[in-house]
Amino acid sequence: MVNRKYDNLISGQWVAGVKYAPNINPSNINDVIGDYAQADAVQLDLAVQAAQAAFPAWSTGNIQARADALDKIGTEILSRREELGTLLAREEGKTRPEGIGEATRSGNIFKFFAGECLRLTGEIVPSVRSGVSVEITREPVGVVGLITPWNFPIAIPAWKIAPALAYGNCVVLKPADLVPGCAWALAEIIARSGIPAGVFNLVMGRGSVIGDPLVNHPGVNAISFTGSQSVGGRIAQQCVLNLKKVQLEMGGKNPQVILDDANLTQAVELCVQSAFFSSGQRCTASSRLIVTDGIYAKFIEGVTARMAGIKVGDALEAGIDIGPVSSLSQLEQDLSYVDIGQAEGAILVTGGERLMRATDGFYMAPALLTDTTADMRINREEVFGPVASIIRVKDYEAALAEANNTPFGLSAGIATTSLKHATHFKRHSQAGMVMVNLPTAGVDYHVPFGGRKGSSYGSREQGRYAQEFFTTVKTTYIAS
Ligand code: NAD
Repeated sequence: MVNRKYDNLISGQWVAGVKYAPNINPSNINDVIGDYAQADAVQLDLAVQAAQAAFPAWSTGNIQARADALDKIGTEILSRREELGTLLAREEGKTRPEGIGEATRSGNIFKFFAGECLRLTGEIVPSVRSGVSVEITREPVGVVGLITPWNFPIAIPAWKIAPALAYGNCVVLKPADLVPGCAWALAEIIARSGIPAGVFNLVMGRGSVIGDPLVNHPGVNAISFTGSQSVGGRIAQQCVLNLKKVQLEMGGKNPQVILDDANLTQAVELCVQSAFFSSGQRCTASSRLIVTDGIYAKFIEGVTARMAGIKVGDALEAGIDIGPVSSLSQLEQDLSYVDIGQAEGAILVTGGERLMRATDGFYMAPALLTDTTADMRINREEVFGPVASIIRVKDYEAALAEANNTPFGLSAGIATTSLKHATHFKRHSQAGMVMVNLPTAGVDYHVPFGGRKGSSYGSREQGRYAQEFFTTVKTTYIAS
């Protein structure tokens, strides 16, 4: 059977790739979702040129038309959430309910930014000089390059595209080559929304082939990137050299503190949810469970018992808790970290092995490692799979110190019934997002998202804080 071909979107036209790559279902590697175009640097250049040509009209155009287009995109995503969520589960390996949830979030993001089109404000302030007034306004940045990872194939493109367009920028999107299906579906919806040709362009392909040319293209004014720290660091250097605006959202090694006074059932559930669901492939997943002495034994017993009930299987099968991991290389990385942890002295309590199912996929039993210490690689490096380690500490102060003992700073959680400790943790956690009696993963779409230290660089994404990156400030002096 011949697979359907999916092309790049450049200047409002569907353009064949220089070659095509199959998009493979990680639950069943014999299921090919389609062949997706691979662009080269020439096509990338055409996409940037199209965005440049569209910018003058779009950036100064009618904001009601912008709002209507974004609202239309949001409405279509929401009405097709089940179909898009199923596609997402099929190409990335999240369960279908998780996929539908992510599609829903994406629709809501477009609706939110449809409203934001109409809410951009400025300031008029008195000058220190007599007879002069000062206006402070925000203008679009220009052509923005958006580079996204594979683990949220529709939500991350949505939370970059929607604010970029709302504030009057033109876009070149390069999605992760592992999961182009949702990005293509989103591009197809955008192409029919009434947005003029060239305002939004999709180029698919490998980071090494078209990512570099996108970052270094002189016609691109800003880069918003989500992905690994190693790629993000290189992109930041290139952007600084080229004096481009840059925003990076990268990895995490998120701590979840469990204190003696925590509600045990709640603590077990939130840890299992945020460590293992979505196969642990969330930048906000809890990978370090920091547990105080008094609850330590009961907590491990509770988590182990809860993990025994987790169903791992085909992402499209009803009743499954966790789908496969996204690729063979991710599976190998996850399994190798389980080995590395044990070689460093950790005890593998449960899981950590490849699972076989009816279809040939990348299934893994979630792994829990105990007796780990802060200096071990499994507690310092992002695994990005269903692997969590437990660090035992004597009290709250030691737990806080351990939580902050990481080069990352994305999300941090505490499970406690103590107002004093929860309040202190909120203030002293070195993470960009803090969760009290909630999983470290799972955030709202209308408020800022991002981290500190090695997790993020530049201004925040999402909510109205997104305008910081997608606009530039102009100060105008007027003699009266
Ligand atoms: P990755 O860094 O390998 O790839 C991310 C994107 O960058 C992809 O589109 C890739 O093709 C592109 N890319 C690769 N090399 C490039 C280059 N030289 N120039 C330009 N672009 C290039 O990351 P991944 O494996 O797709 O995603 C997993 C990572 O993403 C994890 O580290 C995870 O923590 C992180 N992540 C962070 C957040 C967040 O908001 N903090 C959210 C989701 C995922």
